Amino acid sequence: MNLLYKSTRDAEKTVTASQAILKGLADDGGLFVPVSIPKLPVSLGELKEMSYQEIAYTVMKEFLTDFTEEELKSCIAKAYDSKFDTEEIAPLAKVEDAYYLELFHGATIAFKDMALSILPHLLTTSAKKNQVKNEIVILTATSGDTGKAALAGFADVEGTKIIVFYPKNGVSRVQELQMVTQKGDNTSVVAIHGNFDNAQSGVKAMFENKELEKELNEAGYQFSSANSINIGRLVPQVVYYVYAYAKLLQNEEIAEDEEINVVVPTGNFGNILAAYYAKNMGIPIAKLICASNENKVLYDFFQTGTYDRNREFVLTTSPSMDILISSNLERLIYKISGEDARKDTDLMTELKTKGSYAITGEMKANLADFAAGYATEEQVAKTIHDVYEDTGYVMDTHTAVAATVYKAYREDSKDDRKTVIASTASPYKFAGSVMSAIDPKYKGQDDFKLIEELQKVSGTEIPNAIKEIMNAEIRHNTECDVDQMEQTVKNILGVK
Ligand SMILES: *Cc1c(COP(=O)(O)O)cnc(C)c1O
Repeated sequence: MNLLYKSTRDAEKTVTASQAILKGLADDGGLFVPVSIPKLPVSLGELKEMSYQEIAYTVMKEFLTDFTEEELKSCIAKAYDSKFDTEEIAPLAKVEDAYYLELFHGATIAFKDMALSILPHLLTTSAKKNQVKNEIVILTATSGDTGKAALAGFADVEGTKIIVFYPKNGVSRVQELQMVTQKGDNTSVVAIHGNFDNAQSGVKAMFENKELEKELNEAGYQFSSANSINIGRLVPQVVYYVYAYAKLLQNEEIAEDEEINVVVPTGNFGNILAAYYAKNMGIPIAKLICASNENKVLYDFFQTGTYDRNREFVLTTSPSMDILISSNLERLIYKISGEDARKDTDLMTELKTKGSYAITGEMKANLADFAAGYATEEQVAKTIHDVYEDTGYVMDTHTAVAATVYKAYREDSKDDRKTVIASTASPYKFAGSVMSAIDPKYKGQDDFKLIEELQKVSGTEIPNAIKEIMNAEIRHNTECDVDQMEQTVKNILGVK
């Protein structure tokens, strides 16, 4: 049976998985969702013997039904290989009473690698299946980590070009260096004079611009997206939640069918939505705990039922979560509205025009699977410090947002289910903030000097991703204003 996808803003039209991956965003501006979430085709007990790659195939084949077995297995084999520094791909570390699912062992040491190492293969396979002749231009807005992971994934992939926009003063030094030193003739990196939301809105506007689409088509190009609005990002992310459950079973940390909780440090709502899909597939997840930093628009939404982006944008030490418009939330809004495309469209229009919307009481009642919390900058630093002092485990700032929220949730709710914390970045990526949290004497010191200190205190090896950029040549220096993004894309592509 073929699983089809429809837009959150149009219940009528459907497309295949490969078409949804190619398009990224639906023509009406909505996000593609599967018409139903498939059930796991195997028992939980059967999962526990499987490798990461086997679980990836088991999960993804249920979502990407128009891929052949050979195509999908080939994509998986190319993605989850020695680019990862551990055969487990996503190891689970038990620290104190929690399980840290380390999603940062890929090429760019953040969790975006989990999906972006496979997306280029899913996309080029989709292009072949649909006889696409145009060159595919990946257009991406990044709050820091997506950009590099997408660049690394698409660099020199035939038939593609990639253009990444990042907020000039909104990413860490390591993140910026990782991007501007990117090799590959098909890669472009642009710093915009604005924040991540400006970058994301600018990219979305280009996707929705029919005139631009026509011009590009005449020049032999078409856009696609590597952002987490692409279903080709979301589906591979479901895999590691299934894998984490399998690992807990295999290690006899839980009994079969035992419910667990999951805490996810959240920005664009992609990662936690994947956990929600895993739950809907049949993984016994009780609570999905959404952890925000001081940009706590999601925390407020879960408390009040009102989503309100009209607030000050705070630059925090967890920049990949500095987001006020969480794109993927639309998929949840659609779901809790009873798949009412009309309602979803109305709310998203309100978000665009007023910057806020309120869901109905009935919709709010459908959010019972979720809990939410947020962490202040001070709490994040304290968590990194305390866990290091007590256990020697060093976590990054994003993971520390989740760990802080986890502790507070556990105390307040008395819910003592075993809990998986999504650990989304290597501490090496945010060495400055991490070392300053461990000892304030490091405050203000150069990130690269602190990398060596971090190695000493953590006793872990400096990842290749960091060694690589230490002496690499800067290859990208384009900057532009927010209102010049479209012109910049045309310049890069040589379209007038
Ligand atoms: C992207 C990112 C997040 C947020 O994930 P979303 O899917 O956008 O919610 C959290 N932590 C890190 C390190 C990230 O790179």
